[in-house]
Amino acid sequence: MEKTAVRQDTETAGKAPGASVALPANGGATEAVARDTAFGRPRNFLGNRFIYAVISQRARGLSIGVNLNPDKKCNFDCVYCEVNHAEPPRDLEIDVKVMSAELQQLLRLTFEKRLRELPWFRNLPEELLQLKSVTLSGDGEPTLCPKFSEVVQEVARIRSQGTFPFFKIVLVTNTAGLTLPETRKGLQLFTARDEIWAKLDAGTQTYMDKVNRPDIPLRKVLANILAIGRERPIIIQSLFPLIGGEEPPADEIEQYVQRLQELKAGGAQITLVQIYSAHRPPQRGEYCGHLPLRTLSYIARRVREVTGLRAEVF
Ligand code: SF4
Repeated sequence: MEKTAVRQDTETAGKAPGASVALPANGGATEAVARDTAFGRPRNFLGNRFIYAVISQRARGLSIGVNLNPDKKCNFDCVYCEVNHAEPPRDLEIDVKVMSAELQQLLRLTFEKRLRELPWFRNLPEELLQLKSVTLSGDGEPTLCPKFSEVVQEVARIRSQGTFPFFKIVLVTNTAGLTLPETRKGLQLFTARDEIWAKLDAGTQTYMDKVNRPDIPLRKVLANILAIGRERPIIIQSLFPLIGGEEPPADEIEQYVQRLQELKAGGAQITLVQIYSAHRPPQRGEYCGHLPLRTLSYIARRVREVTGLRAEVF
């Protein structure tokens, strides 16, 4: 699932968590409030069944999301997951025809600069109304969706028609189904400008079991990242939560950095490592909070120092 993160990045390092980035000279106080609020807001389906809008810090603006897992099934059970499992799903599978119509409608409003007709967008500054990506994500793991290639095919078809300006497609994944034939078939339609954001939240199986509670081992996650990263550039997304008031142990951070180093040495083309933390309260009851900015900045620094990879704090 795609997460919106707090307003932190390399520009804010040294400031308190949640501190705002300085606004451009033309940004007024009202706009400042709108920007800060926007990045913390939950996604909004805007009355749709499968398509939603989110103002994403990591995407740096508006992302249109495709929920490939309306049944809310995931093979991970992350302590920080924001999916509300108490609420029964409206749909058990994605209807590609309906998804396509909803996506085209929202793209039309976006590119015709009519988003402010919808109340959710009304007070957002112009810069946050520019589409950054169409994101394949959802209430579970998108690569386990049986219709993955059909969905990618339809999104790519809409893009290729030329009705709308080019938009980037981003796959946000926990890597579980990255090597499945259905996923590979869909990924063949990705261009060089599209992106895969692969989750890696741990450097040891013990810590992964604590944070992600997955049904696949860490070695499989690493193997999947390596396999895809040898074929095309990928972005690693790493969420480090505060669990029960505890930060990730120093040893764990070093192990995590080592795993990245091994991926790089093995030939994975990692263009960016996104370091961020839990933002909103999780849905499953555990006490899970936001890691201090100094710790996130430290992790990013260790990634840079040890691996030479580009790492940013969000
Ligand atoms: S990968 Fe984790 S955060 Fe994403 S949907 Fe599954 S359990 Fe939730």
